[in-house]
Amino acid sequence: MVCLLCGGAGLASIALEPSQRLAISGEAAISSDRVKRMHDETEDAIAELHAMLDRADRIVSFTGAGISTESGVPDFRSPGSPWMVNKPIPFEAFVQSREARIEAWRRKFAMDDHYRDAQPNIGHIALAALVADGRSPAIVTQNIDGLHQASGVAGEKVVELHGNGTYATCLDCGWRHELAAIRPVFEATGEPPVCLMCAGLVKSATISFGQAMPQEQMMRAQALALECDLFLVVGSSLVVFPAATLPVIAKRQGARLVILNREPTELDPIADLVIRADSGRALAPLASGPGGPARQG
Ligand code: ZN
Repeated sequence: MVCLLCGGAGLASIALEPSQRLAISGEAAISSDRVKRMHDETEDAIAELHAMLDRADRIVSFTGAGISTESGVPDFRSPGSPWMVNKPIPFEAFVQSREARIEAWRRKFAMDDHYRDAQPNIGHIALAALVADGRSPAIVTQNIDGLHQASGVAGEKVVELHGNGTYATCLDCGWRHELAAIRPVFEATGEPPVCLMCAGLVKSATISFGQAMPQEQMMRAQALALECDLFLVVGSSLVVFPAATLPVIAKRQGARLVILNREPTELDPIADLVIRADSGRALAPLASGPGGPARQG
Protein backbone atom coordinates (compact mmCIF):
# COMPACT_ATOMS: atom_id res chain seq x y z
CA MET A 1 0.00 0.00 0.00
CA VAL A 2 1.48 3.30 -1.11
CA CYS A 3 0.71 6.57 0.61
CA LEU A 4 -1.75 8.50 -1.51
CA LEU A 5 -0.15 11.80 -0.57
CA CYS A 6 3.59 11.32 -0.70
CA GLY A 7 4.03 8.01 -2.55
CA GLY A 8 5.77 6.51 0.48
CA ALA A 9 5.26 2.86 1.33
CA GLY A 10 4.69 3.45 4.99
CA LEU A 11 1.09 4.47 5.56
CA ALA A 12 0.10 1.20 7.17
CA SER A 13 -2.97 2.74 8.76
CA ILE A 14 -4.91 2.64 5.51
CA ALA A 15 -3.86 -0.92 4.76
CA LEU A 16 -5.22 -2.48 7.91
CA GLU A 17 -8.83 -3.33 7.13
CA PRO A 18 -10.02 -5.07 3.96
CA SER A 19 -13.18 -2.98 4.18
CA GLN A 20 -11.06 0.15 4.04
CA ARG A 21 -9.21 -1.13 1.00
CA LEU A 22 -12.51 -1.66 -0.76
CA ALA A 23 -13.66 1.76 0.28
CA ILE A 24 -10.69 3.42 -1.37
CA SER A 25 -11.64 2.17 -4.80
CA GLY A 26 -15.40 1.93 -4.22
CA GLU A 27 -18.22 4.40 -4.07
CA ALA A 28 -17.73 5.17 -0.39
CA ALA A 29 -14.10 6.16 -0.85
CA ILE A 30 -12.27 7.45 2.20
CA SER A 31 -12.38 11.17 1.94
CA SER A 32 -9.19 12.93 0.98
CA ASP A 33 -9.50 14.81 4.28
CA ARG A 34 -9.34 11.58 6.22
CA VAL A 35 -6.37 10.26 4.23
CA LYS A 36 -4.58 13.55 4.81
CA ARG A 37 -5.40 13.43 8.52
CA MET A 38 -3.99 9.89 8.84
CA HIS A 39 -0.89 10.95 6.92
CA ASP A 40 -0.47 14.02 9.12
CA GLU A 41 -0.94 11.95 12.29
CA THR A 42 1.81 9.56 11.18
CA GLU A 43 4.14 12.45 10.36
CA ASP A 44 3.38 14.06 13.73
CA ALA A 45 4.08 10.79 15.51
CA ILE A 46 7.41 10.40 13.70
CA ALA A 47 8.35 13.95 14.67
CA GLU A 48 7.44 13.20 18.28
CA LEU A 49 9.58 10.04 18.16
CA HIS A 50 12.63 12.05 17.15
CA ALA A 51 11.96 14.65 19.83
CA MET A 52 11.81 11.84 22.41
CA LEU A 53 15.02 10.29 21.05
CA ASP A 54 16.74 13.68 21.31
CA ARG A 55 15.74 13.96 24.98
CA ALA A 56 16.76 10.40 25.89
CA ASP A 57 20.16 9.45 27.30
CA ARG A 58 19.91 5.67 27.35
CA ILE A 59 17.89 4.15 24.53
CA VAL A 60 17.29 0.43 24.19
CA SER A 61 15.92 -0.76 20.86
CA PHE A 62 13.99 -4.01 20.74
CA THR A 63 13.55 -5.37 17.23
CA GLY A 64 11.44 -8.07 15.62
CA ALA A 65 10.75 -9.47 12.18
CA GLY A 66 9.18 -6.23 10.96
CA ILE A 67 12.50 -4.39 10.73
CA SER A 68 14.00 -7.11 8.54
CA THR A 69 11.07 -7.65 6.18
CA GLU A 70 12.13 -4.30 4.73
CA SER A 71 15.41 -6.05 3.81
CA GLY A 72 13.50 -8.86 2.12
CA VAL A 73 13.83 -11.32 5.00
CA PRO A 74 10.55 -13.28 5.22
CA ASP A 75 8.67 -13.21 8.51
CA PHE A 76 8.97 -16.95 8.97
CA ARG A 77 6.83 -17.07 12.09
CA SER A 78 3.87 -14.99 11.04
CA PRO A 79 0.48 -16.68 10.69
CA GLY A 80 -0.08 -17.68 7.08
CA SER A 81 3.63 -17.82 6.32
CA PRO A 82 4.40 -20.76 4.01
CA TRP A 83 7.19 -21.57 6.46
CA MET A 84 4.63 -22.35 9.15
CA VAL A 85 2.97 -25.13 7.08
CA ASN A 86 5.58 -27.59 8.32
CA LYS A 87 5.40 -28.34 12.01
CA PRO A 88 8.49 -26.98 13.75
CA ILE A 89 11.05 -29.64 14.66
CA PRO A 90 11.30 -29.62 18.46
CA PHE A 91 14.74 -29.47 20.00
CA GLU A 92 14.27 -32.88 21.64
CA ALA A 93 13.53 -34.50 18.27
CA PHE A 94 16.63 -32.88 16.77
CA VAL A 95 18.78 -34.39 19.50
CA GLN A 96 17.19 -37.83 19.40
CA SER A 97 16.57 -38.45 15.71
CA ARG A 98 18.98 -38.50 12.79
CA GLU A 99 16.01 -38.13 10.42
CA ALA A 100 14.86 -35.03 12.29
CA ARG A 101 18.36 -33.52 12.03
CA ILE A 102 18.44 -34.18 8.30
CA GLU A 103 15.03 -32.55 7.87
CA ALA A 104 16.08 -29.59 10.06
CA TRP A 105 19.19 -28.98 7.95
CA ARG A 106 17.25 -29.41 4.70
CA ARG A 107 14.77 -26.73 5.85
CA LYS A 108 17.55 -24.53 7.18
CA PHE A 109 19.32 -24.28 3.84
CA ALA A 110 16.02 -23.85 1.95
CA MET A 111 15.21 -20.89 4.24
CA ASP A 112 18.71 -19.48 3.89
CA ASP A 113 18.25 -19.19 0.16
CA HIS A 114 15.53 -16.63 0.89
CA TYR A 115 17.59 -14.27 3.02
CA ARG A 116 21.31 -15.03 2.96
CA ASP A 117 21.94 -12.08 0.60
CA ALA A 118 19.78 -9.66 2.62
CA GLN A 119 21.44 -6.37 3.51
CA PRO A 120 20.71 -4.02 6.41
CA ASN A 121 18.09 -1.42 5.57
CA ILE A 122 17.69 2.17 6.71
CA GLY A 123 16.05 1.02 9.97
CA HIS A 124 19.05 -1.13 10.94
CA ILE A 125 21.42 1.68 9.98
CA ALA A 126 19.45 4.19 12.06
CA LEU A 127 19.59 2.00 15.17
CA ALA A 128 23.29 1.38 14.57
CA ALA A 129 23.79 5.16 14.57
CA LEU A 130 22.22 5.35 18.05
CA VAL A 131 24.74 2.77 19.28
CA ALA A 132 27.63 4.46 17.47
CA ASP A 133 27.00 7.84 19.07
CA GLY A 134 26.79 6.30 22.54
CA ARG A 135 23.12 6.94 23.21
CA SER A 136 22.18 3.28 23.02
CA PRO A 137 24.17 0.67 24.99
CA ALA A 138 22.83 -2.29 22.99
CA ILE A 139 20.10 -3.61 20.70
CA VAL A 140 17.88 -6.48 21.83
CA THR A 141 16.49 -8.54 18.97
CA GLN A 142 14.19 -11.44 18.29
CA ASN A 143 15.69 -11.76 14.83
CA ILE A 144 18.22 -14.40 13.81
CA ASP A 145 19.43 -12.78 10.59
CA GLY A 146 22.54 -11.01 11.89
CA LEU A 147 21.56 -7.76 10.14
CA HIS A 148 22.25 -5.56 13.19
CA GLN A 149 25.84 -6.79 13.17
CA ALA A 150 25.96 -6.33 9.39
CA SER A 151 24.89 -2.70 9.91
CA GLY A 152 28.02 -2.10 11.98
CA VAL A 153 26.96 -2.89 15.55
CA ALA A 154 29.56 -4.92 17.43
CA GLY A 155 28.39 -8.44 18.21
CA GLU A 156 28.63 -7.90 21.96
CA LYS A 157 26.15 -5.03 21.65
CA VAL A 158 23.47 -7.18 20.02
CA VAL A 159 21.45 -9.28 22.47
CA GLU A 160 19.97 -12.14 20.44
CA LEU A 161 17.03 -13.72 22.26
CA HIS A 162 16.40 -16.35 19.60
CA GLY A 163 20.00 -17.00 18.65
CA ASN A 164 21.66 -16.46 15.28
CA GLY A 165 20.92 -18.28 12.04
CA THR A 166 24.04 -17.21 10.20
CA TYR A 167 26.24 -19.88 11.76
CA ALA A 168 26.01 -23.16 13.70
CA THR A 169 27.35 -24.42 17.00
CA CYS A 170 28.17 -27.76 18.55
CA LEU A 171 25.56 -28.67 21.17
CA ASP A 172 28.24 -30.33 23.29
CA CYS A 173 31.36 -28.17 23.20
CA GLY A 174 29.92 -24.91 21.78
CA TRP A 175 32.44 -24.69 18.96
CA ARG A 176 31.31 -22.41 16.15
CA HIS A 177 30.83 -23.98 12.72
CA GLU A 178 30.33 -22.00 9.51
CA LEU A 179 27.35 -22.78 7.28
CA ALA A 180 29.48 -22.36 4.16
CA ALA A 181 31.55 -25.34 5.27
CA ILE A 182 28.60 -27.48 6.38
CA ARG A 183 26.35 -27.02 3.37
CA PRO A 184 28.38 -28.62 0.57
CA VAL A 185 29.13 -31.68 2.70
CA PHE A 186 25.47 -32.01 3.73
CA GLU A 187 24.28 -31.67 0.15
CA ALA A 188 26.83 -34.18 -1.12
CA THR A 189 26.35 -36.83 1.56
CA GLY A 190 22.89 -36.17 3.02
CA GLU A 191 24.43 -36.66 6.45
CA PRO A 192 23.77 -34.13 9.24
CA PRO A 193 27.00 -32.46 10.42
CA VAL A 194 28.90 -33.47 13.53
CA CYS A 195 31.49 -31.45 15.42
CA LEU A 196 35.06 -31.73 14.16
CA MET A 197 36.33 -31.08 17.68
CA CYS A 198 34.25 -33.50 19.75
CA ALA A 199 31.87 -35.37 17.38
CA GLY A 200 28.89 -33.71 19.09
CA LEU A 201 25.72 -32.72 17.24
CA VAL A 202 25.95 -29.49 15.25
CA LYS A 203 22.88 -27.26 15.04
CA SER A 204 22.07 -23.86 13.63
CA ALA A 205 22.77 -21.37 16.44
CA THR A 206 19.09 -20.48 16.74
CA ILE A 207 16.76 -21.29 19.62
CA SER A 208 14.42 -24.07 18.52
CA PHE A 209 10.94 -24.82 19.73
CA GLY A 210 11.34 -26.64 23.04
CA GLN A 211 14.89 -25.36 23.56
CA ALA A 212 15.55 -23.27 26.66
CA MET A 213 15.77 -19.52 26.17
CA PRO A 214 19.38 -18.35 26.46
CA GLN A 215 19.64 -17.34 30.13
CA GLU A 216 22.54 -14.94 29.76
CA GLN A 217 20.91 -13.10 26.88
CA MET A 218 17.57 -12.89 28.69
CA MET A 219 19.26 -11.50 31.81
CA ARG A 220 21.15 -8.92 29.74
CA ALA A 221 17.94 -7.89 28.03
CA GLN A 222 16.16 -7.48 31.36
CA ALA A 223 19.02 -5.44 32.78
CA LEU A 224 18.92 -3.17 29.72
CA ALA A 225 15.14 -2.74 30.12
CA LEU A 226 15.65 -1.84 33.78
CA GLU A 227 18.29 0.80 33.07
CA CYS A 228 16.99 2.59 29.96
CA ASP A 229 15.07 5.84 29.81
CA LEU A 230 13.56 5.11 26.39
CA PHE A 231 12.52 1.64 25.21
CA LEU A 232 11.96 1.60 21.46
CA VAL A 233 10.10 -1.37 19.96
CA VAL A 234 10.70 -1.69 16.21
CA GLY A 235 8.85 -4.20 14.06
CA SER A 236 7.71 -6.60 16.75
CA SER A 237 4.13 -7.64 17.38
CA LEU A 238 5.16 -8.35 20.99
CA VAL A 239 3.36 -11.67 21.22
CA VAL A 240 6.32 -13.94 21.98
CA PHE A 241 6.87 -14.30 25.70
CA PRO A 242 8.97 -13.90 27.76
CA ALA A 243 10.60 -11.42 25.39
CA ALA A 244 7.42 -9.38 25.21
CA THR A 245 7.62 -8.65 28.94
CA LEU A 246 10.65 -6.42 28.33
CA PRO A 247 8.65 -3.32 27.33
CA VAL A 248 6.53 -3.77 30.47
CA ILE A 249 9.65 -3.97 32.63
CA ALA A 250 10.99 -0.79 31.04
CA LYS A 251 7.69 1.06 31.41
CA ARG A 252 7.28 0.06 35.07
CA GLN A 253 10.69 1.41 36.02
CA GLY A 254 9.84 4.77 34.48
CA ALA A 255 11.19 4.62 30.92
CA ARG A 256 9.22 6.05 28.03
CA LEU A 257 7.88 3.35 25.72
CA VAL A 258 7.59 3.79 21.95
CA ILE A 259 6.08 1.11 19.72
CA LEU A 260 6.87 1.39 16.02
CA ASN A 261 5.09 -1.41 14.21
CA ARG A 262 2.88 -1.69 11.15
CA GLU A 263 0.18 -3.55 13.08
CA PRO A 264 -1.41 -2.92 16.48
CA THR A 265 0.11 -4.71 19.48
CA GLU A 266 -1.36 -5.65 22.82
CA LEU A 267 0.99 -3.25 24.56
CA ASP A 268 -0.11 -0.20 22.55
CA PRO A 269 -2.35 1.00 25.42
CA ILE A 270 0.61 1.38 27.80
CA ALA A 271 2.94 3.01 25.25
CA ASP A 272 3.76 6.71 25.39
CA LEU A 273 3.81 6.79 21.60
CA VAL A 274 2.55 4.36 18.95
CA ILE A 275 3.60 4.73 15.31
CA ARG A 276 2.03 2.58 12.60
CA ALA A 277 4.56 2.93 9.84
CA ASP A 278 7.47 1.17 8.19
CA SER A 279 10.52 1.32 10.43
CA GLY A 280 12.77 2.60 7.64
CA ARG A 281 10.50 5.55 6.96
CA ALA A 282 10.11 6.47 10.64
CA LEU A 283 13.79 6.09 11.54
CA ALA A 284 15.34 7.54 8.39
CA PRO A 285 16.33 10.92 9.95
CA LEU A 286 18.64 9.06 12.37
CA ALA A 287 20.43 7.29 9.54
CA SER A 288 21.32 10.54 7.81
CA GLY A 289 21.78 12.71 10.91
CA PRO A 290 24.67 13.10 13.35
CA GLY A 291 26.21 9.71 14.00
CA GLY A 292 24.70 8.22 10.85
CA PRO A 293 26.57 7.00 7.79
CA ALA A 294 26.17 10.37 6.02
CA ARG A 295 28.42 12.00 8.58
CA GLN A 296 30.87 9.10 8.58
CA GLY A 297 31.19 9.43 4.80
ZN1 ZN B 1 31.92 -30.07 19.74
